[in-house]
Amino acid sequence: MKTRIAEVFQKQFGGEGAFFASSGRINLIGEHTDYNGGYVFPGAIDKCLMAEIRLNGTDKVRAFSIDCDDYCEFGLEEADKPAALWARYIFGVCRETRKRGGKVEGFDTVLAGDVPLGAGLSSSAALESTYAFAINELFGNKIGSFELARIGQSTEHNYCGVNCGIMDQFASVHGKKDNLMLLNCKTLEYKYYPFNPVGYKLVLLDSCVKHELASSAYNKRRASCENAAAAIRRRHPEVEFLSDAHRLWLEEVKGEIPAEDFLRAEYVIGELQRVLDVCDALERGDYETVGEMMYQTHFGMSKLYEVSCEELDFLNRLARLHGVTGSRVMGGGFGGCTINLVKEELYDAFIADAKKQFAAKFGHEPKVYDVVISDGARRL
Ligand code: ADP
Ligand code: MG
Repeated sequence: MKTRIAEVFQKQFGGEGAFFASSGRINLIGEHTDYNGGYVFPGAIDKCLMAEIRLNGTDKVRAFSIDCDDYCEFGLEEADKPAALWARYIFGVCRETRKRGGKVEGFDTVLAGDVPLGAGLSSSAALESTYAFAINELFGNKIGSFELARIGQSTEHNYCGVNCGIMDQFASVHGKKDNLMLLNCKTLEYKYYPFNPVGYKLVLLDSCVKHELASSAYNKRRASCENAAAAIRRRHPEVEFLSDAHRLWLEEVKGEIPAEDFLRAEYVIGELQRVLDVCDALERGDYETVGEMMYQTHFGMSKLYEVSCEELDFLNRLARLHGVTGSRVMGGGFGGCTINLVKEELYDAFIADAKKQFAAKFGHEPKVYDVVISDGARRL
């Protein structure tokens, strides 16, 4: 990828610039916990967005996207927002850097990536983080790493119409090889945990479906959680989010909230504990327990939180049948990928059978993405 970028840069602009990259991400466990003030547990992966960049001494950015085969030139004032979506991510990062008092002037850049787009691995965060990090270095701005993640998040909000949380950009910027990150979504404190499952592979199976229900169901789930938290708060005023509540406190209000809200809250409180159990297991190098927690998460997302779908349940059941160590739906649900922790010796048979069986039932094969936990934003 680097050679290809260098060739295109040479042809497009002449000479050469500096290389930067940042990564896509997975989330091992901790789903629908972010808006409940709980933990997520992401890691950066060995699929990245890479950019060559050189300051050009003007007030214009000139950018070429190899993957979109598209060139775009834009200024750095608010009114200069480019029409092409891919370029808006770069423009947004420039604008958000300036809003934070950082210096940004014109540059030439060529970019390419191998994070699959729209597959739940956050190619957009990889793109934002690459430029947020690079601009910070190239212009000598001293913006802290967490704020670089915020620049990416604000770019999505203000320039790309995506109202996302902080996890993706956080993971992309802070990712560290062989480490996952426990992020407390309430305090934004984080901690690294070693994740180096020797003898196992981490593989995503992309169902390539996205069911329509996703956004309305998401809002309903949030409302259920808020409702349950409010009921608990009446007895325990210290409860701001569901993450502050004990399991027993939920039991106390069982008769006061709709049965559906109870099930949703039961999932969330269980999930918060599972994340912590996974952290403990990782400190012991106990990947079997990690895997079992992943299955429990899938069960909860399917039966209590009800955000799975036929395709994902199918892939999850198949994983169990093949003796895969852990498997669960990753992301908000209603489509996208399962994430699987699988012993190397079981990998080939599992993948071959998943492709075959899934295709027989749903008419197309799932896509397969092997991932290794890797570094996040960096200068190459
Ligand atoms: P994801 O879940 O992968 O983040 P999004 O829809 O949020 O999916 O972001 C995908 C968008 O990010 C693409 O439509 C494109 O505008 C931009 N993007 C991501 N990777 C690249 C790339 N390699 N080259 C150009 N644009 C990219
Ligand atoms: Mg995205």
